Amino acid sequence: MSDECVFCQIAAGEIPAQVLLEDEEAIVFHDLNPQAPTHLLVIPRRHVESTGTLETEDGELAGHLLLTAARAARQAGIHDSGYRVVANTGNEGGQTVPHLHLHVLGGRPMSWPPG
Ligand code: 5GP
Ligand code: ZN
Repeated sequence: MSDECVFCQIAAGEIPAQVLLEDEEAIVFHDLNPQAPTHLLVIPRRHVESTGTLETEDGELAGHLLLTAARAARQAGIHDSGYRVVANTGNEGGQTVPHLHLHVLGGRPMSWPPG
């Protein structure tokens, strides 16, 4: 855990969040500033900075996060209509919280390309 990391603090229960589901490895909660009718964040409990710092041995965790995103989408009722999974990475990727997270966005049509 990184003491100054807001998502580590959410994982530790030190900052409240609207949690949809959780297991030993991951937590899914609603984004504070939703960009779609459904906007979830999937995070590993363990502090990993971004997709760019995942190591080969993190492959199982990375797969688990994707599977958890799909599970969360089903639970939130956006599986049938479709949704988008996004991992902003680094400065130009638009990452503002340096703890790996997958955005799961749904409930409206998504445009492409992203801004
Ligand atoms: P990023 O910009 O790094 O891809 O995404 C970070 C996301 O975390 C943003 O969508 C932002 O609204 C969300 N966020 C930042 N701080 C908090 C918080 O304390 N609680 C929750 N639920 N979401 C947060
Ligand atoms: Zn963290």
